[in-house]
Amino acid sequence: MKRMNYIKVSCLLAIIFITGCQTSEPVSSQFPKIAIAGIGIESSTFSPAQTEEEAFHASTGSDVFQMYSFLHQDSSLRNRAEWIPTLRGHALPGGIVTREAYESLVSKTLKMLRENGPYDGLFFDIHGAMSVVGLEDPEGDMIERIREVVGPDVLISTSMDLHGNVSQRLATYSDLITCYRMAPHEDAVESDRRAVTNLLERLESGKGKPAFKAWIPVPILLPGEKTSTRIEPGKGLYAKVDPVTRQDGVIDAAIWIGYAWADEPRNHAVVMVTGDDREQVVSSAEMLANEFWKVRNEFEFVAPTATLEESLAMALTSDSKPFIISDMGDNPTAGGAGDVTWTLQQILERPEFKDESGPQLIYASIPGPDLVAKAVDAGEGQTVTGMVGAMVDDRYAGPISLTGTVTAIRTGDIHAETEVVVRVGSVHVIVTKKRKPYHHESDFTNLGLDPRSADIVVVKIGYLVPELYDMRGGWVMALTPGGVDQDLERLPYKHIKRPMFPLDKDMEDPDLSAQLME
Ligand SMILES: [Zn+2]
Repeated sequence: MKRMNYIKVSCLLAIIFITGCQTSEPVSSQFPKIAIAGIGIESSTFSPAQTEEEAFHASTGSDVFQMYSFLHQDSSLRNRAEWIPTLRGHALPGGIVTREAYESLVSKTLKMLRENGPYDGLFFDIHGAMSVVGLEDPEGDMIERIREVVGPDVLISTSMDLHGNVSQRLATYSDLITCYRMAPHEDAVESDRRAVTNLLERLESGKGKPAFKAWIPVPILLPGEKTSTRIEPGKGLYAKVDPVTRQDGVIDAAIWIGYAWADEPRNHAVVMVTGDDREQVVSSAEMLANEFWKVRNEFEFVAPTATLEESLAMALTSDSKPFIISDMGDNPTAGGAGDVTWTLQQILERPEFKDESGPQLIYASIPGPDLVAKAVDAGEGQTVTGMVGAMVDDRYAGPISLTGTVTAIRTGDIHAETEVVVRVGSVHVIVTKKRKPYHHESDFTNLGLDPRSADIVVVKIGYLVPELYDMRGGWVMALTPGGVDQDLERLPYKHIKRPMFPLDKDMEDPDLSAQLME
């Protein structure tokens, strides 16, 4: 069913007169009616971890507005549509999502969509790198099922992470589609806002669906740690996106790096351009795809990489503090289990850190509910012994029995729930009840730790998020083992398309001509 009349502002007075304007939301017939839906996670299938429904912290109904600063009560965008937020969930990166969790989240979404339709538009907000047990291309599956409910005429605007994957099915069922243009993702809010603004403009102007949608799969698969947009060639490549979108016949353009730690035919880079001018849409998409292919050999890790032993040697002799070491292979923000103990075990065995007066090292972090419970019982200042780590991923090292002095206990974090700091020799180990990434200075200072004055800070992360990057004295990315091993050539791919750069180094130049999606 197609809704009408929202563009005709002249109807407003009549509608208010008839309806009596009983609702605080905009009068429905004056504005486009837009649903919000989507679940997001980046999940590694090369990790033994699994992700359950609770990890998505799903919001429903008006709580969903809290996720978007640009849709707060008095914002201009909020007042341009009648919004129907359904279910939005977003999980920390992790292991593959259980089928039960996925089906539960999707069926709740579809039920809410059914109850509140019909719609003019739908804002589909996803990450794009979700893996689900026994299901290929989950985001493609989800949008197909959403389409069945909302119908073919509803304008769907999809917003994604540039590390997501765009299957042909996702490209087909999305009318407008975009992704971040920055890694680290400093433009996440801006990207969502762009997806919503483009959707509103197409509905308000009556132009509706774009006449053309170009999709180009680019046979490149690279880790995020090589494709930061802070340095070349990522920087220059992504700088070409915005000028493309400023052409008259183009609505939006996007480049996806894709996600390297799952093994499906859709795992590769993609370029898409949407617009009304066929020639501009096609030539712009082909230009971006060719530019990407041209610089493929120039992608390098964004910081020096080394073994852990080499990294520690560099850190111990460095005059620049804090020296940050990325414990990269188990980076939970890329999909690692986050509880691999291999690195912490190596550090604790080193003689340099055995005494309290040794080099001050902060280790962030390791999940250890056993030790956390004991620390909470004992209290700050007390000595505790408890087990940490390797409950999910014990492939490289087993759980560690940690004995040390509790220097901080903090409760209430949405991810960690409870965090404690245990001092072992000169190492401050942050132990959490549940896993949590440490990205902000306040994550440390809230625990009485000063990362700036530490000699060494070890974080389970790949490239540094801006706050850590700006704080670093020195930085090296340690090639440690885990579910997001950065050496892609070691991963046992079976289902990705071949040939694929850089796995098939001598491959011929691919066909990068645009495919127009119906
Ligand atoms: Zn990302």
